Amino acid sequence: MSVYFSDFSGQDDTKTQLKDLFKSNRVPHALLLNGPEGCGHLQLALSFSALLLCQNPTPIDACKNCPSCKMFEKYQHPDLHFSYPIHLSKTEHSEISDDQRPSFLEALEKYKCLGKKTWYSKMGNENKQGVIGVKESQSILSKISLKSFFGNAKVLIMWMPELMNAQAANKLLKLIEEPPEKTYFIFVSNDQPKILPTINSRLQSINIPSLKGENISVFLQEKFQIEPSSAKSIAKISNGNLNRAITIHLDAGVSELNRSLFVNWMRLCYSRNIADTIDWVNEFSKIGREQIKDFINYSLEMYRQCILGNYNLVIEGVNESERSFLEKFKPFINHQNISEINSLMNEAYYHLERNANPKILMLDVSIKLYKLLRK
Ligand SMILES: [Zn+2]
Repeated sequence: MSVYFSDFSGQDDTKTQLKDLFKSNRVPHALLLNGPEGCGHLQLALSFSALLLCQNPTPIDACKNCPSCKMFEKYQHPDLHFSYPIHLSKTEHSEISDDQRPSFLEALEKYKCLGKKTWYSKMGNENKQGVIGVKESQSILSKISLKSFFGNAKVLIMWMPELMNAQAANKLLKLIEEPPEKTYFIFVSNDQPKILPTINSRLQSINIPSLKGENISVFLQEKFQIEPSSAKSIAKISNGNLNRAITIHLDAGVSELNRSLFVNWMRLCYSRNIADTIDWVNEFSKIGREQIKDFINYSLEMYRQCILGNYNLVIEGVNESERSFLEKFKPFINHQNISEINSLMNEAYYHLERNANPKILMLDVSIKLYKLLRK
C-alpha cells in the first residue's frame, strides 16, 4: 500500500507545511486539506496520519517499521478511523461508514486515489449522492471516546465533509471544538464552500492546488507500471486529476475509444456530411458527460500535437495508431484555425460542466468545425 509521504511525488509545499506542523508540535486538532478532486489530498491525509501514529517517527516521515506503521500499511490500525459519505439504506445495512468499510478499502487499494464518482460506482450507483448522516456522527462519538490502542494518538480522516448533513454536523460540533487529548480530525474536502459554516469555522485549513502533470505521469509509471509515453498522454488528458488519470487507465478501452471517436468525427466534419454527423452526435452523446469531457480534452491534445507536427517538432506521448492518423491529419490544423478551434473546444467543455445538453452542443461544435477545418 502506498501510505507514506515518500510514496507519492508532488505537492511538496503542502508536505513541508504538514511536516513543519508536526516538528513544531503545532498540529491542529481539526485540520482541513482542501483542494480539487484528485489533487492527492487523501494521500496526504493518510501520510500525515501515519506520521502522527508512528511510534518512532523521523522528522520527515513515519518510520515504516514499528508495529503502528505495519498495521497502518494494511489500514488495520485500531487508532485510525475513516468517515466518508455512503448511500444510506436500512434494508442493505448501510447506515454508517464502517458498514461500507470493506468496499471502501478495496476501492482505495485498487484506485489509490479516490474520486467521488469512483466511490459512488463502487457502492453500486455512480449517480446517487452519498451522505454523512447522523448515525455516522453517533458512531464517531463512540469511537473517539474509546481509549487509544497504543496509548498514543487517535486519528479520524473524514473524506468529503461537504456531504455531511446539518443534523450530523450539529452532533459533532462539541467534539471538534474540544476533542480528547491527542485526537486529530483530518478533513479532506473537494469543495470547502459547501462545508457547513458551523464546521468550517472550526477547522484550520490548508489549500492544495491541482497536481502537476509530471507528478501524475510518475505516479502512473510507479504504481501501475504504465509505459512513460502512455503515462504522459493520460496525464495530459486528466487535467491535474489523479483519480481521473487512474480511472482512464483502469478503464483501458477509453483511450482507444477516444482515438476512434476522434478519427471518425474529424472525417465527418471535413466531409460536411450533415446526416451522418447527426447520427454520430446522437450515438456519441450516449457515452455520458464525464466521458465527453475527457474526449474534449483528448481532442485538444490531438490538435496541439498537429501544431507540433507542422513545425516538425516531435509528436510525443501518443501511441502508434494515433501517430499515423496525426501524420495525415496535421495539415488541416494550422495557425489560421488553431486558436478558434481551441476556444471552441474550451467553451464546449465549459458548457458541459454547466449541464448543457451534449447532443445540441456537440452538433453545434461539429458544424462550426466544418468551416474551421477548411481554413
Ligand atoms: Zn513507525
